[in-house]
Amino acid sequence: MLKIGCHLSASRGYLHMGKEIISIGGNTFQFFTRNPRGGSAKPLDEADTAAFRQFAAEHGIEVILAHAPYTLNGCSADPAIRDFAARTMADDLQRMEATPGNLYNFHPGSHVGQGTEAGITMIADMLNGLLRPDQTTTVLLETMAGKGSEVGGRFEELREILDRVTLKEKMGVCLDTCHVHDAGYDIVNHPDEVLAEFDRVIGLDRLRAVHVNDSKNPLGARKDRHEKIGEGFIGTEAILRLMRHPALRELPFNLETPNELDGYEREIRMLKELY
Ligand code: FE
Ligand code: FE
Ligand code: ZN
Repeated sequence: MLKIGCHLSASRGYLHMGKEIISIGGNTFQFFTRNPRGGSAKPLDEADTAAFRQFAAEHGIEVILAHAPYTLNGCSADPAIRDFAARTMADDLQRMEATPGNLYNFHPGSHVGQGTEAGITMIADMLNGLLRPDQTTTVLLETMAGKGSEVGGRFEELREILDRVTLKEKMGVCLDTCHVHDAGYDIVNHPDEVLAEFDRVIGLDRLRAVHVNDSKNPLGARKDRHEKIGEGFIGTEAILRLMRHPALRELPFNLETPNELDGYEREIRMLKELY
């Protein structure tokens, strides 16, 4: 069955997010583990996570996707910033065990002029320092648009990070349609070729989640500005083709389009109908 949802605010807790996504026709969702610009997380409310687990089981929410703050940079030139990223991620993964068996996505980082290779090494070192054999959460590297000095705009870069991680079975990839498009992968005209390249370089078995976004910019723009579905350079048909692809159809699809809840509700309804 199609797993579709959107990014929700976590400010009122897990049970609230569960009820909210069901109320707008979804069955999966994404949320920030804490303020997207970093900072400390609220103490975990165990009554809330327990109530959410019950609600999720009763309402067919099979998987949820946590998103790390997007300011975390495990390949900063500043060791204090790298250390903060590692400690924040370790804390997030610890908290994720209250909702076991889900997904935790993060932006690999920006090497800020140190070079892609140096960045890849630092990101892999960070992961090797914090992944635990007993964790039930799968950590996902997000495909990036390649703006600035972002690591992860090429599939090869994600592959190199994965190659250097010891606990590979804890790792996967989240494909963001806007990001891969902006990075230059032509999912509009050549979706099968792009997925074949993903398979050749990374392996489609590593793909565990999809961010469903249109793009405000043309192919290869390296911008990363999300657009509403059907209003950008990717278009509804290209997005539906990816959602229907045999290698992707079991994955959770989360919208990160510029919308409030009512806009997300309309996009979820539209994609479900067309799907
Ligand atoms: Fe992201
Ligand atoms: Fe994304
Ligand atoms: Zn983005």
